[in-house]
Amino acid sequence: MRKIAHDCDVLVIGGGIVGLSTAYAITRRAPGTRVMVLEKEPGPARHQTGRNSGVIHSGIYYRPGSLKARYAVRGAAEMVKFCAEYDIAHAVTGKLIVATERAELPRLHALVQRGRENGIPVRELGAAQIAEYEPQVRGLAAIHVGTTGICDYVGVAGRLAAASGAEIRYGARVVRVDRRPELGVAVETADGAVVRARMLVNCAGLYCDEVARLTGDDPGMRIVPFRGEYYHLRRPELVNGLVYPVPDPAFPFLGVHLTRGVDGGVHIGPNAVPALAREGYGWNVVRPGELGRTLSWPGAWQLARRHWWYGAGELRRSVSKGAFTEAVRRLLPAVTEADLEPAAAGVRAQAVLRDGTLVDDFLIREGARAVHVLNAPSPAATASLPIGREVARRVLDVLADG
Ligand SMILES: Cc1cc2nc3c(=O)[nH]c(=O)nc-3n(C[C@H](O)[C@H](O)[C@H](O)COP(=O)(O)OP(=O)(O)OC[C@H]3O[C@@H](n4cnc5c(N)ncnc54)[C@H](O)[C@@H]3O)c2cc1C
Repeated sequence: MRKIAHDCDVLVIGGGIVGLSTAYAITRRAPGTRVMVLEKEPGPARHQTGRNSGVIHSGIYYRPGSLKARYAVRGAAEMVKFCAEYDIAHAVTGKLIVATERAELPRLHALVQRGRENGIPVRELGAAQIAEYEPQVRGLAAIHVGTTGICDYVGVAGRLAAASGAEIRYGARVVRVDRRPELGVAVETADGAVVRARMLVNCAGLYCDEVARLTGDDPGMRIVPFRGEYYHLRRPELVNGLVYPVPDPAFPFLGVHLTRGVDGGVHIGPNAVPALAREGYGWNVVRPGELGRTLSWPGAWQLARRHWWYGAGELRRSVSKGAFTEAVRRLLPAVTEADLEPAAAGVRAQAVLRDGTLVDDFLIREGARAVHVLNAPSPAATASLPIGREVARRVLDVLADG
């Protein structure tokens, strides 16, 4: 590479848990590497990382051998260790996955097999045994997964930022990228500042496809934002720990679940409805430009055509608290509408291909002098330490080649 003055070796776009974990992994693996993180918000973890269920997933759901399975199993153990080391609130609670209809029993059984293939401790429970863990929960059968936990991901992100030693610039929204393979990258932020780096890492979450396109790389996918709405349970004594339904295998979403968080409160959610803006945390947030770009992607229409029936149910439960409560009552019959208080929502960055396929696994792609993280939905918070190491490995391999 020709000699020019770089402000840093590696520039990471995005101060969520994946970007910060990448910065941390780079400085751990190659001390002395100058890393800078540009984050458009005034602090870390303001989007997906700070608006999720706070669950350390065991890895039971994911196809054996997939990145999700490998990184979640490893990442869950590492996350517990990281939280213990840095005194961040966490607990290994275990969780129940409960079948409430006969049609779900074969899928529950398939999850047991999958869990065992992924090396996860699973206990099968009959209807009566559910009460040993959750006296108020009803179901036909369930499984107990021992290694699931909860933690404070905002605390984790803050600690990763500090421990990485990276220079972190908040309020720095990247609007332009000029890439010269022989020189590196020059990135401009909304306030007109320019940062030059040898390598760029795109961890922009809900905007990762747009940032990839700023570099000139065609990501081959679009983020379709799916909002997840939550309620706070006013009678938290109804739930001891974590209770999940049997997920629909056609979707990468886990279904509305009951989660007792590290603060002791119980959240119920998230559902999955299309968001009208990438950071559209309510129906009143509409960004016509972003919505137009989502709708101009053929995959968004294919997806809608294929799954309109599922989508209609989710929409009904989004606009009607009664319908949402009815759905929750299948797991927790004692709950009433008055027990549910609306809570902050999150939006998932879900990659969708041109033909409407929902990208199931984590997706990391390389371009010249750039690594793009293009699909890091759940369980990417759990798996963030292994994801960060994988991105760091790819970046450092390129830097080592000059
Ligand atoms: C409702 C919900 C529930 C979930 N539950 C769980 C769970 O229980 N367990 C689990 O493991 N995972 C869960 N997840 C998934 C998990 O939260 C995400 O996978 C993870 O947080 C992704 O991290 P990230 O760093 O990629 O994205 P983000 O946290 O969204 O960070 C991306 C950052 O990039 C910044 N950015 C974007 N564009 C630019 C730009 N142009 N310039 C500068 N900065 C930019 C954004 O401001 C943002 O801070 C959940 C997600 C949601 C939405």
